[in-house]
Formats: sequence, C-alpha cells, structure tokens
Amino acid sequence: MTGIMQGKRGLIMGVANNHSIAWGISKALAAQGAELAFTYQGEALGKRVKPLAAELQSDFLLPCDVEDLATVDAAFEAIGERWGKLDFIVHAIGFSDKNELKGLYADTTRENFSRTMVISCFSFTEIARRAAGLMTDGGAMLTLTYGGSTRVIPNYNVMGVAKAALESSVRYLAADYGPQDIRVNAISAGPVRTLAGAGIADARAIYSWNQKNAPLRRTATIEDIGGSALYLLSDLSRGVTGEIHYVDAGYNITSLPTLERLRK
Ligand code: NAD
Repeated sequence: MTGIMQGKRGLIMGVANNHSIAWGISKALAAQGAELAFTYQGEALGKRVKPLAAELQSDFLLPCDVEDLATVDAAFEAIGERWGKLDFIVHAIGFSDKNELKGLYADTTRENFSRTMVISCFSFTEIARRAAGLMTDGGAMLTLTYGGSTRVIPNYNVMGVAKAALESSVRYLAADYGPQDIRVNAISAGPVRTLAGAGIADARAIYSWNQKNAPLRRTATIEDIGGSALYLLSDLSRGVTGEIHYVDAGYNITSLPTLERLRK
C-alpha cells in the first residue's frame, strides 16, 4: 500500500468499539499506509478491539490501563522490542464518574476530581514521555479534547476542567519536545455518539443542539475527525505544534443559535 503514512508506525490508545473516535482516526491512518498498534483497557474491550485491529492488518495489541502504570510501561517496552522506534501516538482516553457529569460542577468530589485528572489529562503527559523516548527520528502526538474546556457546557463539569488542563499540557509538551522535532497537538471534536459521550447527562440534547446550530448544520463524524488527525499526524503539518484544532462543524465560532431558531 502507498500513501502519506507509508513507512510510519504508530500507537492508537482509546479504541473501545467501531464508534470510537480513535477508530475513525485509525481507519484514516491505515488507508494511507500507516502500521498500527492498539492498546485496550481490559479483556472485555480487548475482545472488541482485536477484530477491528485485524481489519486494518494489525495483530499488535497491548493491554493498558492508564491507572496502572505498570501496564503503561509494559506497553511501551513491547513497542520498543518489536518496532525499536515510534513515529506517532493517538491518545483518545477520557473518564469521569458519570454521577458527576450532571448537576452542578460545584458538587464535584475530591476523589473524582483527582481520578478524572489522572486518566483524562495526566495520562497524556506520562504517555508522551514514554513515546518521546522511542521517537528517535522525530514524531507526532495527538490527543482529543472538547470545547467544554473553554466554555461552559451543561453537565460537562469536571471533564471541562480536565480538558482545559489537557489543552495546556499540549502546549507545554509541544515546547518540551519541539527541539526533538516531536510535534504535539489536539483535536477539539464536536459531540460524537460514543460510549464515553453517552456518560454525559443530556448527551442527546447537546448533540442535537449542535446539529441544528453549527454552521455546517451537522455534527462532525469520526471520519471527519480521522481526516484532520491524518493531517496532524503526517508530514503535511510538519510546521504545526501546540495547536488545538477544532473539528466540530464550526460550532465553536457561534455564540447564539441560528437566526431561524432565535426568531421562533
Ligand atoms: P470511547 O468510549 O469510544 O473511548 C474512550 C476510551 O477511553 C475507551 O477506549 C476507554 O477504554 C478509554 N479509557 C478510559 N479510561 C481508561 C483507562 N483508565 N485506561 C486506558 N484507557 C481508558 O469514547 P470517545 O468519545 O471516542 O473518546 C475518546 C476521546 O475523545 C476522549 O478523550 C473524549 O473525552 C474525547 N472527546 C469525545 C467527544 C465525544 O463527544 N464523544 C468529543 C470531544 C472529545
């Protein structure tokens, strides 16, 4: 196969099923010749990820739960042993207790605040450090964020705070690793119907509000996100680092609903 990712090898973290954003990204990368490895969180998800990986000619699957650092280390050791080096990583991992993805942000517990931060934000830093050690010819890292980081979205609560920290860490990591020609960027995706997305209260209403009010009058698909990820992970974006790139059908530029809806 030929393509702009020909000869590049990367690790995809965060495929849960064929609705996952990481799956949309994987398809776009593989279609352009990338060789992929996948992590999965726990054996139940592993059973779903294995046939998906096989669809993209990958048999390189690694268990990894970012709350268990030994599994993170083992995954990167296995990549080092099999590939020797790494060209890119995709971090599409997020979690918060769904009981706190509703109601008031002010009611967030200390325990869930810490857990959300570690899984959804700090894991990217820990993974970036390990990945950078294998990116001996430069590389590209990508994480996923959401507009609830900079503006209040009902129910997004502590996840919005974690995404704000994640976006800031993208900029710090970009500065840290730029001298090694390693680029670090994020995609801020519009709402997508995924397992993680369903954990947010009123997710359907938020999805449909975006569909009706985004400039493109739809939401972004995992294929749309895959196309933008391909750009950010390929040499096409070799001058781009530290960016938060919105793939949300333009929703982030709006402030009021569409005129038609406003006049109703
Ligand atoms: P998803 O449920 O398909 O993927 C979330 C992934 O996170 C799963 O694969 C899960 O196994 C993994 N994960 C959670 N805790 C983990 C842990 N402790 N260790 C390892 N992996 C863990 O949902 P998705 O919507 O594709 O989410 C991917 C990323 O995109 C997340 O960071 C999410 O916040 C972000 N995002 C989602 C939306 C949306 O509307 N769905 C919008 C913008 C950003």
